[in-house]
Amino acid sequence: MIQKIRGTIDILPEEIPYYRFIENTARKVAEKYGFSEIRTPTFEATELFRRGVGNTTDVVQKEMYTFLDNDNRSITLRPEGTASVARALIEHGRCGDAMPIKLYYLINCFRYEAPQAGRSREFFQFGVEMFGAGNPAADATIISLGSSVIRELGIPNIALHINSIGCPACRPAYRDALVKYFSEYRNQLCESCKGRLKTNPLRLLDCKNESCAALAAGAPKILDYLCIECSDHFSKLQSYLDSMSVSYQINPAIVRGLDYYTRTVFEFIADGIGAQSTVCGGGRYDGLIAELGGPQLAGIGFAMGITRLILAIKQAGIKIPEEPKPLLYIASLGSAATQRALSIVEGLRGRGIYAECDLVGRSLKAQMKYADKIGAAYTLILGDNEIESGKAQLRSMSSSTQEEIPIDEIEKHLLG
Ligand code: ATP
Ligand code: MG
Repeated sequence: MIQKIRGTIDILPEEIPYYRFIENTARKVAEKYGFSEIRTPTFEATELFRRGVGNTTDVVQKEMYTFLDNDNRSITLRPEGTASVARALIEHGRCGDAMPIKLYYLINCFRYEAPQAGRSREFFQFGVEMFGAGNPAADATIISLGSSVIRELGIPNIALHINSIGCPACRPAYRDALVKYFSEYRNQLCESCKGRLKTNPLRLLDCKNESCAALAAGAPKILDYLCIECSDHFSKLQSYLDSMSVSYQINPAIVRGLDYYTRTVFEFIADGIGAQSTVCGGGRYDGLIAELGGPQLAGIGFAMGITRLILAIKQAGIKIPEEPKPLLYIASLGSAATQRALSIVEGLRGRGIYAECDLVGRSLKAQMKYADKIGAAYTLILGDNEIESGKAQLRSMSSSTQEEIPIDEIEKHLLG
């Protein structure tokens, strides 16, 4: 028996309504904010993610699905969406378009991680990106978009944590302060953090290891090191969020896993879905487009993990919209009745109605049971007698009443 690859998921039909609910809600909200959809390739040149996500990040160091194709090119299955969107803008000469450029996507991503609840090797994201707007009003709008999606999904107990990680002007001093602080406790750090101390000291702040986390709690705080511009940006963001009635808390431990972030970073964190509780992460990445060979262009965005949103929806017992049920199921016995049934359901489908009839030649009793199971609103029973007389019983499944109608008038009876 061939089985699916570890860490991938089959989404069976009964799970699909959850995905559709989230995707439809996300599209609806994004479009209300004026975002257009973009679709980019599932795989890209590995170099794009090395530069765009950053060589020192866990994603690039340990989590990418990278392989050589038949032409010996290094290819990577996308671990995230932002780098591809940025590449596409540069490649299609869109960086001079009217600003801001506002894009959203619904994608699958691939990361080689230890599979567990809320963490898989292929997973699904809803993401948004805004380019060409460096003003904190843009940050507030992106954050409010994320918070609207969560509100429209009806998920309670999700907290918004915001922070600023400064810019290339003020971060080096903070970085030095962190290195100085953590170096004193070097032997209490986990092996990964010993490495991070050299390559990416900010990342020590979100290590899940107990001893590292305890040390991180006492570490210097970035907010004390922000330059005037970054500090002004952060306080404006807070007053804009206040005026948009988006509630938040400031959390200096939010540093985000990707290298391209500058200034604002944020996460939406859910209660009660276990260790993988960040349902959405995002931030500003004013250096990314230039890093990828484009002009200097501001950018800000987020990505939501769809599987984690589903966990939160289930945890909260939220009722999601039901899949459509057939208006009519025709039970038929004999080939003349089957022929008539097929023509009736086809006619209804042509008028936009969901209708079904028997395709497996079951007994009448089994057909009625099936009609009940698929939730048909009405059933029509057709046998040789009905075909001959031109009349049949139309049964309402909800009221368990039936009336005899001319078969020819079925559409009139159902559609009025
Ligand atoms: P984490 O800290 O959970 O590893 P991250 O910082 O690596 O998250 P991002 O790169 O910001 O995550 O991705 C945005 C969102 O995508 C996350 O908040 C999460 O909801 C989701 N996500 C990330 N990795 C996975 C995964 N392996 N499986 C399922 N969802 C994921
Ligand atoms: Mg991760």
